[in-house]
Amino acid sequence: MKIVDEDLLSRAKAHAIEFLRSLPERHVGARADRNELREALAEAFPETGEPPEHVIETLARQAPRGTLASAGPRYFGFVIGGSLPVALAADWLVTAWDQNSGIFATSPLASVVEEIAREWLLDVLDLPREASVGFVTGGQMANFTALAAARHAVLRRAGWNVEDDGLAGAPAVNIVAGAEAHVTIHTSLRMLGFGSRTLRAVENDEQGRMRPSALRAMLGKLEGPTIVCAQAGNVNTGAVDPLREIAAIAHEHGAWMHVDGAFGLWGRASRDRRSLLDGAELADSWATDAHKWLNVPFDSGIVIVADSASHRASMTVTAAYLEQTTGAERDSVDWVPDFSRRGRGFAVYAALRTLGRRGVEDLVDRCCAHARRFAAILGRDPRVTILNEVVLNQVLVRFGDDDALTREVIALVQREGTCWLAGTTWHGMAAMRISVSNWSTTEEDVERSAVAILGCIP
Ligand SMILES: *Cc1c(COP(=O)(O)O)cnc(C)c1O
Repeated sequence: MKIVDEDLLSRAKAHAIEFLRSLPERHVGARADRNELREALAEAFPETGEPPEHVIETLARQAPRGTLASAGPRYFGFVIGGSLPVALAADWLVTAWDQNSGIFATSPLASVVEEIAREWLLDVLDLPREASVGFVTGGQMANFTALAAARHAVLRRAGWNVEDDGLAGAPAVNIVAGAEAHVTIHTSLRMLGFGSRTLRAVENDEQGRMRPSALRAMLGKLEGPTIVCAQAGNVNTGAVDPLREIAAIAHEHGAWMHVDGAFGLWGRASRDRRSLLDGAELADSWATDAHKWLNVPFDSGIVIVADSASHRASMTVTAAYLEQTTGAERDSVDWVPDFSRRGRGFAVYAALRTLGRRGVEDLVDRCCAHARRFAAILGRDPRVTILNEVVLNQVLVRFGDDDALTREVIALVQREGTCWLAGTTWHGMAAMRISVSNWSTTEEDVERSAVAILGCIP
């Protein structure tokens, strides 16, 4: 193998560009099933290996069949962003540089870039400027890390050192969250040793927002260390909990307040959405994603903790060989569960520097406007009901007030291929969920998709 295989890298680049070029017009769904993909790719583990260009060609040939055009403009499934060109380019460089971004000593550049990205994030999201930030794999690990910091803080206040002594024999911790907390909150509780069943669900309103009166009643009955998980951006409706009220109630009861804002927290960057997220700055920790609404490639979540000492205490590692710096430098092992890791901050830095404050705001506002347009066009049809107040980028659509028909339309839309979106169940009703999270979606994409969706109603 060559040290620098220019031909191989050029082929990979050509495939990448061909793929990106195809995004706006290709069938948005995948075309091959599991068996077909195995047929094309599986064979007995090769004894002697194959030329690298053959391997790359083999993989690239399956991209049009086995991928979704989720990086493209008419993919509205789940909550999935695409990649800004600059974020993709930065991510290519990260792969080429192959830096272990765990500590300053193994990559000064990664460390400094994450230091700056931290400052910009706190600025654009307008969160406490002294907060600590960790660049993690996604919203799941952002929630996990924030709740690990919360676990440290509430138990320390109760006189218990959970990092040294574990949870056996520790004071019980009350975990409180809205009734529609994201599943990754449950998983985090599992991984943190609390168990998902300890979660006490607070009643929500009809849009999926936590009811402050119900929270107040619940906290009034609880004693001891308590963590409250609020949500900014319900995955179905986009609704945001009344954060200012929740913060006041949580702090009155001495509880730690965490905000899962995987996509919704980005609403803070928009002057139009800002009031919806009022009070978010009062929380103790936040989880958000860069790979959703900021449109950087996958593997990019962000955890933010106001009490940086608790954040560090819950994550940091000590090993004699790590003590390589003066103390001013940022070692990412202090803020994330990973040890060796990819330089996740580069793509975030590149996206933020390219967009600037107005660019991030415009990205958020544009997606919200597209969501409202979807609701307006689809809602005009008598067979359609829009189930939610469209406050952010999420729209819930139901057809003929009928579960079976709604599921059928979703399946037909996926097969038709103009756009792609998925189904959900909202308050016992089947619904189509539209999430507009891609930087490249245009008004025309929305109109074309709406027409295609209406055309799929049998
Ligand atoms: C997507 C999402 C998560 C999980 O984030 P990942 O990046 O997929 O791990 C958590 N909470 C909410 C509200 C989300 O939308």
